[in-house]
Amino acid sequence: MAMTRLTPQRAAILEYLDGNTDHPSAEDIYRAVRRRYPMISLATVYNTLDALKQEDAVMELSIDTARKRYDPDTRPHNHLICTTCKRIVDIRVRLPLRLPKSEQSGFKITGKHVEFYGLCPDCQDAQV
Ligand code: ZN
Ligand code: MN
Repeated sequence: MAMTRLTPQRAAILEYLDGNTDHPSAEDIYRAVRRRYPMISLATVYNTLDALKQEDAVMELSIDTARKRYDPDTRPHNHLICTTCKRIVDIRVRLPLRLPKSEQSGFKITGKHVEFYGLCPDCQDAQV
């Protein structure tokens, strides 16, 4: 693994992501980090996220079809998304889901990601 320079921007992005469970988009990260580093560009955020992804320091989620979302927790876990406000929360419980051999089409299965969709409590309240 190539050592990447720890630029102030990269450090700021890492600091913002550390322990962050909001699954922010690149734009969210850009807006937050820009407050401290006004010179940072969205391109730098994208490039940094790409590098962090290569190093398995961040996981890219495609559960939100409108924009990629990022998760600093790279341990296997599943997600639940609100179809209205696009809030994403973690599912921590292990889901005993097994794909029968007859449905594997000869693939060697290396992973899975289960996505649940619904309305979060706030969006249920707004739905009168
Ligand atoms: Zn919602
Ligand atoms: Mn997550």
